[in-house]
Amino acid sequence: MRNSSNMFDLNGKIALVTGGGSGLGQSNAIALAKAGASIMVTDIDFKKAENTRKKILEFSRNAYSFKCDISSIHEINDLVDETIKRFGKIDILLNSAGITPDQEPILEMREDNWDKVMDVNLKGTFFTCQSVLKKMILREKGRIINMASASGLVVNYQSPHIAPYCASKAGVILLTKALAVEVAPYKITVNAISPAYMKTQMTDMKWEKDKEDYLKKISMLPVGRAGMPEELNGLVIYLASDSSAFMTGSNIVIDGGLTCW
Ligand code: NAD
Repeated sequence: MRNSSNMFDLNGKIALVTGGGSGLGQSNAIALAKAGASIMVTDIDFKKAENTRKKILEFSRNAYSFKCDISSIHEINDLVDETIKRFGKIDILLNSAGITPDQEPILEMREDNWDKVMDVNLKGTFFTCQSVLKKMILREKGRIINMASASGLVVNYQSPHIAPYCASKAGVILLTKALAVEVAPYKITVNAISPAYMKTQMTDMKWEKDKEDYLKKISMLPVGRAGMPEELNGLVIYLASDSSAFMTGSNIVIDGGLTCW
């Protein structure tokens, strides 16, 4: 354990951030870099990953970008190989890549809509963990943070017809616990964060089109406003740091009170 003046110091750590090209992943990648970590930013959209890398290089930290579709195990393994080639190790994995489905009632749900969400949010998260854990276990060291969702805990009537999203994020929460138990003997921790209604590309695109819908959604939040991506940064840094060694298998909810009702 480091002394109390630098409990959240990440100098010398290597962090791999999926979905790092926008929203929460971008904000968290920049925050991890500001705390001292070197970053491999990855996204299915290379331009977006590269944009985040450039933002990090503005304050002269070491960062690379790499294109990876996490629904492909082959691409995940290439990503992990490239990260090891560039940095020699992976200390921190932040799984932020995720998508929402087309909104469809249960009886109209298309198979491809279901599969796409599961392939990215649940299968992609699992196989990224698997590939990175193969490296972390060798060093008996590591921090994994999975971006789940309040939608993995409750069904919110202001965001209807997203059954595959809810199921995928509930899966991520339990997957996090299963992984945590299995890798605890290697001093690796695995935790999940469950946000709700953060202002990102995922949510903004719809809210900008429909102000009334936005206000209905916000009415679900006791705090009366959407969250900003940077409001997750402190927790991400804590979970990535040596300070969180005794926390594993947890799901930390940051949702403006949505799940209190
Ligand atoms: P976002 O759309 O801004 O960012 C998601 C990123 O993931 C994008 O850059 C996208 O290109 C990338 N991505 C999508 N599919 C991918 C794939 N197959 N492989 C690799 N990258 C891929 O969304 P966000 O709001 O920042 O969401 C980040 C995570 O947080 C997601 O897992 C999301 O489900 C979760 N989350 C977000 C909110 C919210 O209110 N924004 C709430 C709860 C949970």
